[in-house]
Amino acid sequence: MIKVFCSENRLRIQQVKDLLDGYGIPCFIKNEYSIGGIGEISPFDAWPEIWLTDNEWFNRASQLIAEFEAAEKEGSPWVCRQCQEHNEASFEICWQCGTEFNP
Ligand SMILES: [Zn+2]
Repeated sequence: MIKVFCSENRLRIQQVKDLLDGYGIPCFIKNEYSIGGIGEISPFDAWPEIWLTDNEWFNRASQLIAEFEAAEKEGSPWVCRQCQEHNEASFEICWQCGTEFNP
């Protein structure tokens, strides 16, 4: 078994789990219920983790997770191709010239 992902954000853990499940990669969540637990474990140790039951999948899973994290960053400011104006991620068209967001 090998750990492939860890996050304090359970939503992300679930998203990554769903992603790997979707590709048929055998994995499970560890520490899922330990957050907020008492004892000597440090908060970091209590973060949910995703483990692969089979190390053979590690490279594939790492690649998918990297893509997942890259996709998350798409919600970042963008530069208009038409007029080079900087736009906030929430804008779908350039506020300066009205050109549609077209990465
Ligand atoms: Zn523009």
